[in-house]
Amino acid sequence: MSKIRLALVGLGKIARDQHLPAIAADDRFELVAIVSRNADLEGVAHFTTLADLLASDVAVDAVSLCTPPQPRHALAHLALAAGKHVMLEKPPGATLSEVEDLRLTAAARGLTLQTTWHSRYAQGVAPARAWLADKIIKSVRIDWREDVRVWHPGQAWIWEAGGLGVFDPGINALSIATAVLPRPFFLTQATLHVPENRQSPIQAQLAFVDTVGVPVTAEFDFLQTGPQSWDIEVDTDGGALRLSHGGARLWIDGALVHEQPEAEYPGLYARFAELIAAGQSDVDVTPLRHVADAFLLGRRVAAPAFIE
Ligand code: NAP
Repeated sequence: MSKIRLALVGLGKIARDQHLPAIAADDRFELVAIVSRNADLEGVAHFTTLADLLASDVAVDAVSLCTPPQPRHALAHLALAAGKHVMLEKPPGATLSEVEDLRLTAAARGLTLQTTWHSRYAQGVAPARAWLADKIIKSVRIDWREDVRVWHPGQAWIWEAGGLGVFDPGINALSIATAVLPRPFFLTQATLHVPENRQSPIQAQLAFVDTVGVPVTAEFDFLQTGPQSWDIEVDTDGGALRLSHGGARLWIDGALVHEQPEAEYPGLYARFAELIAAGQSDVDVTPLRHVADAFLLGRRVAAPAFIE
């Protein structure tokens, strides 16, 4: 089979750290173009805009969008209109309506659209889902605390409307919770702390309840110094499950039972190749819908100005 000729749009942190190595390691893909306003890559055709690439004679089958969420819909729409399959980094858009438009557009044109939730490919997630399947769940606690100054230096977009603030990492926790818990859960209460000089929250406390009344709480914090935590704890009748390190490690009753080398992005690209081969799409907005619910229902409280 011929390779999927891929263009990567937005050469920032995640593109360099994860997408480029995953693409290079997957025989099914050939990186044929980079679209970036500021950077290029030796040996690969470079364009400043996606429109320039699409108007060029470089043949492309698929586009991987690694920009922040705000410009993503316009770029994805352009790519789909030009007949290209599209992979969307998380979150898949700045609004739910944008993603719905892309879903319909891809379906109408018979193209593949993939909303990627990389944390669902963390190695502990599938075994956690399997372990929880026959347990009676009593409560769920999510602790997602990281230092924004360490992990997102200079990323002005994260503080702007559509950038999600602390929900940018927090949505990863929601993507895991919606994958491992056996029932849907619904937001009942949220408090969003928004710095007086920014548009997006820096901290958030969320309370959910599932369809049989199990409480799910989440604490998202962008001001965590010292040890960072990307943990989900589930108390059950069969013991206490803990997913740590963003889903990479699985613990049962304090014992580490599952840890494998990290392979999130190779998993995402393998799935993209399979979807393209099968002529299918994978569009799931569940984690983004929870974020939208928090912005709808949540109480916004003023927090001190954030100075980077
Ligand atoms: P980043 O380092 O700021 O890079 C984003 C790149 O997008 C920029 O380098 C820029 O590249 C391009 N871009 C295009 N339009 C832009 C605009 N209007 N504003 C700002 N940049 C624009 O961000 P990132 O950390 O790679 O994150 C990008 C996406 O990946 C986000 O949705 C994020 O949630 C997701 N993600 C990030 C991580 C992580 O660890 N950082 C992990 C998983 C997922 P050019 O200068 O090349 O045009």
